[in-house]
Amino acid sequence: MLSFATIVAPATPPGEGGVGIIRLSGPQAVDYLKIVCKGKSPVSAMKSHQLYHGHLLNRDLEHVDEVLAVVMRAPRSYTGEDVVEVHCHGGSQIQRSVLDLFLAVGAQMAAPGEFTQRAFLSGRMDLAQAEAVVAVIKARSERASRVALDQLDGHLSRLIHHFSRQLKDSLALLEAHIDFPDDEVGTLDLSALLAPVRDLSLEMGSLVESFDVGRALREGISVLILGRPNVGKSSLMNAMLGESRSIVTEVAGTTRDTLEESLVLGGFPVRLIDAAGVRETVDPVEREGVRRAREKALSADLVLMVVDGSGPLTDEDFLALELCQSDKTVIVVNKSDLAQAADITRFIGFERLVSISAKHGFGLADLRELIVEQFGRDESFSAGEGVVITERRHRDALLRAITALEGVLVSVDTLAPLECLAVELREALSSLGQITGETTPDEILDQIFSQFCIGK
Ligand code: GDP
Repeated sequence: MLSFATIVAPATPPGEGGVGIIRLSGPQAVDYLKIVCKGKSPVSAMKSHQLYHGHLLNRDLEHVDEVLAVVMRAPRSYTGEDVVEVHCHGGSQIQRSVLDLFLAVGAQMAAPGEFTQRAFLSGRMDLAQAEAVVAVIKARSERASRVALDQLDGHLSRLIHHFSRQLKDSLALLEAHIDFPDDEVGTLDLSALLAPVRDLSLEMGSLVESFDVGRALREGISVLILGRPNVGKSSLMNAMLGESRSIVTEVAGTTRDTLEESLVLGGFPVRLIDAAGVRETVDPVEREGVRRAREKALSADLVLMVVDGSGPLTDEDFLALELCQSDKTVIVVNKSDLAQAADITRFIGFERLVSISAKHGFGLADLRELIVEQFGRDESFSAGEGVVITERRHRDALLRAITALEGVLVSVDTLAPLECLAVELREALSSLGQITGETTPDEILDQIFSQFCIGK
């Protein structure tokens, strides 16, 4: 076990709350508690993982707070080191004073993610699990937190280890032939070597495909509501949200700026964005809105292109339509409660079209279904035994591993020396090791942990 300074940081967010928790980790965590905490049970007699009552006193023996404290002795703690948590009153000043108390006796302020970094360095969790800690904290839907908790539980890590084990077997076979070409190992059966390489490359490929769902779960889906003024964009947004947040009015062009709301659809966190009405206009405020709508249409994951089905389509509708890419657009024909007059054959080339009435709620279930379908239903979770990758870093490492495995297959086809195959296999193994942290360069590790919040 590596020896570190003892670190301290608030584990609860700043601000007012019922309790605030200050956490320490390191070889002197318990000693520091001994110095500042007095209670019926002396700190040295505290049993691990049990909560004790006590009072914190400063150097001048002034009372700082009445607290509950718990000691979690190494290695049975989050970091694998001695950990102390002090539950004080949840005010920002009290927490600051408690923190200062520990800093005054010698603890060092923890860097962002340092607790989790220590957990990783002491082998309590691998890198993919450490990254999942952030994903669990940041999850914005139940489904997103389920995927993150699975990753924290080691589902992804186990799959990666399973891949690595098979590649190591192939590499061992290959190396035996390289080291003892004429010996008792016999002639190399290339098909026995190639079959697992080919299978693994396919399995990794389907894991890579789960990234679309994973990214949508992690970052959320951005859905832009686009259309000329008065077609019912605000009404649609309100209907989707189930409450009146954006102002619905009968005067064309009142939704001047973009408005964003969050909701959960089919387990995906969704950002619903109502863009300004798209219209060529001399009004400078509105023109700026149109420019932003163009930008947002480009960056959105999905565009709901709304038209008014009760009237003929206009040039303005086609202007808005020009901003849409067919593979990420749903045409929403609104006002289906009125007699229909729009010529929807004009939307040829757009595969998804749905008729709704935002005012009366007709067709909204179909629309929700279409939105979720774009980002994968439960079947998408079947990839890699239900494992979903959510980190771009993991996807890139898998892609590098796949490229290396394809290199192995090409090397066999071109009768390249066995050493070349071994190099490619090692490259694939090293890429997989970057996911779990075994081969991740230090600067990447630092970068990953620096994205954590203080106290995590
Ligand atoms: P926006 O300018 O595109 O945001 O349009 P609004 O949501 O402000 O709606 C413009 C007008 O159309 C309002 O009077 C709404 O009540 C009306 N409207 C919206 N959706 C429907 C619908 O499904 N049916 C009918 N009959 N009227 C609607």
